[in-house]
Amino acid sequence: MSEIKQKLKTVFGYDSFRPLQEEIISNILSKRDSLIIMPTGGGKSLCYQIPALLFKGLTVVISPLISLMKDQVEQLKQLGVDAVVLNSSLTPEEYSYNFNCVKSKKAKMLYLAPESLFKDDIQWLLNEAGLESITVDEAHCISEWGHDFRKEYRQLGILRTKYPDAVCAALTATATPRVQDDIVKNLNLVNSQKFVASFDRKNLFLQVVPKLDPFLQTVEFLNEHKNQSGIIYCFSRRQVDELHEDLSGIGFSTKPYHAGLSDAERVTNQDLFTNDKVDIIIATIAFGMGINKSNVRFVIHYDLPKNLESYYQEIGRSGRDGVRADCLLLFSGSDTAKINYFINQKEDAVERISAKAHLDAMVRYAEYDGCRRQPLITYFGEHYSKVNCGMCDNCIAEAKVSEDITIAAQKFLSAVKRTGEIFGAGYIIDVLTGSEQEKILRNGHHNLTVYGIGKEYTKVQWKQIPIQLLNKNYLTRDVEFGGLKLTPSAIGVLFKKEKVFGRVEAKVRSSTKRLILKEDYDEELFEILRQKRRQIAEARNVPPYVIFSDRTLIEMAKELPQNEFQLSKISGIGEKKIKSYGSIFLILIKSYCAQKNIPAKKSVVIIKKTERKRYIEVGQEFNKNISVESIAETMGVKRETIIKHLFDYVLNGNKLNPDYLQSEVNSGKELQKNILNEFKREGTSALSPLKEKFGDAVTYDDLHLLRIIFLNKSK
Ligand code: ADP
Ligand code: ZN
Repeated sequence: MSEIKQKLKTVFGYDSFRPLQEEIISNILSKRDSLIIMPTGGGKSLCYQIPALLFKGLTVVISPLISLMKDQVEQLKQLGVDAVVLNSSLTPEEYSYNFNCVKSKKAKMLYLAPESLFKDDIQWLLNEAGLESITVDEAHCISEWGHDFRKEYRQLGILRTKYPDAVCAALTATATPRVQDDIVKNLNLVNSQKFVASFDRKNLFLQVVPKLDPFLQTVEFLNEHKNQSGIIYCFSRRQVDELHEDLSGIGFSTKPYHAGLSDAERVTNQDLFTNDKVDIIIATIAFGMGINKSNVRFVIHYDLPKNLESYYQEIGRSGRDGVRADCLLLFSGSDTAKINYFINQKEDAVERISAKAHLDAMVRYAEYDGCRRQPLITYFGEHYSKVNCGMCDNCIAEAKVSEDITIAAQKFLSAVKRTGEIFGAGYIIDVLTGSEQEKILRNGHHNLTVYGIGKEYTKVQWKQIPIQLLNKNYLTRDVEFGGLKLTPSAIGVLFKKEKVFGRVEAKVRSSTKRLILKEDYDEELFEILRQKRRQIAEARNVPPYVIFSDRTLIEMAKELPQNEFQLSKISGIGEKKIKSYGSIFLILIKSYCAQKNIPAKKSVVIIKKTERKRYIEVGQEFNKNISVESIAETMGVKRETIIKHLFDYVLNGNKLNPDYLQSEVNSGKELQKNILNEFKREGTSALSPLKEKFGDAVTYDDLHLLRIIFLNKSK
């Protein structure tokens, strides 16, 4: 095993690297400067921590927030790594103790705030301890173009020239090219290599529902997330206070957080949350910076965020431990109008238009009817090609029966045209449904032929039409004024008999219930382990996730390890943690199993690993041109099970031999073409509407295969 893999396992307790980590570590170890761009939770820390363990000299980590530094050092100590911090918050005794740790070369890592770096005693210390590596965390703070410029970061530019032999690594979660260039330039990085990780956070489940009764919708959601940590973001302080009062009034464990509270209250509430003593923080956007809590399990947006940047940053605070986290957005047109109103108050026209464009992207995301990762990830400049992510509401939606909505689309489009392409959806719907509003009469629009021709639908139903027309690119929305306009493709629908398929539901889906099942683990045992974790954390005065992450506890509650060997296979358990906490947790698990008469599983972890990779095995066999039939026979399973594995294989980004795949399909060519067209038009989330449509002409197996062919092609 390589040296760095070994450190990953023995110190951090992980089996494999996340994308780019290994390359970055090698780059730093070979003393080449690196610029590292990874989303929150991507695993940046390991990238400089493992080199720090392997370097002979000292690694300095520059970080802007004292709370973040403290947290990191705490986590490292729990892993048995000697890391210290030197800053103004320490007592003189603590300071000199830590100082000596570095001086005597006992500590391999020193965390510093940028302003401490050039103090005389620190400069002396860095020379004495042999500075070998400099890490600048939150490196975007050096750029005035970033959202978080700090002037103390500016002086870091001197570092590179002052310590030419030390390697430099800069880390950030901000992706804009301008900020990246600024970092390289201002830090004077030499021939640096840039590493950009994907911004797709696969473990975040994305869900948007129309905001109909936000309080009850929130309660419904929270009832499905009992005892879990989460954040609810609101637009205003008043809303925060109100919601806190209402939710805590019916027994939820909540605290407020906003700029109107005193510093002391804010710190206390944040600490309660970090330490798992309060489940839910209800906050304005002011909450989140400097929060390192890894086990935030959900984020609710009670009100619409102003732009996708904030939205992404806010949901990004959940699921940093890699365990699934649920992100719910309650979306309403009146929130959009409210934000628009505030934007209109801005004096500067350029600012106004830019804010509106941002808001428009946000609204488009909320109204999008395909995979939500598509608009989100591409917004951040990354190519996104997966058709079905399996982790958003649209991708896993129940069979949506698609119908011919051409007539409604024609009516809507012509009403847009005839009213001059300057009105928003609400007005157009009023015209179509024959409203007698003064504005319509004043404009003389009650005389149009389209007036009142849409009485077959309710307003709720009509509202669904423009959203689909926007998504299908028959309409665009004017960024500044919100008016709808036809695109050239609308001509096809209006005059060339082009058909439009979509959905018009009498009631819109507004339930906030969990859409897919939770992971399969013993929840009762998990709760017992969680309590123990909290007790230990309290006794040691550290946040619980520093002891063990949620991922680690979940795996324990799933695999039920019975001895230290089995425990060492659990993710996140390295040598030090086994020593510190192994026996305590093993006793709990064993006595739980005994009490519940759960027989000890044998070599659980090894079985789990092979099971997980079944689809890979199947995909690889198939690519050796072995037929579905024979694979099924060899494995002793049904044909449809093998097809399901092939589906997973492709969904996970692998490619199958297209010709061989084709040879498995029995339906006629024409039928195949029609079905593939349906996938193109309607997406691949459901097969049952197709089965309904084509009836006995096609088998489910063929539908499955054709969907795989379709997805395989778009790779
Ligand atoms: P970032 O600083 O990029 O926001 P962190 O470094 O805090 O992310 O990592 C997020 C979480 O992922 C941490 O709990 C960390 O221990 C975990 N993690 C990092 N690398 C791995 C890995 N290779 N395997 C499993 N978990 C990892
Ligand atoms: Zn999706």
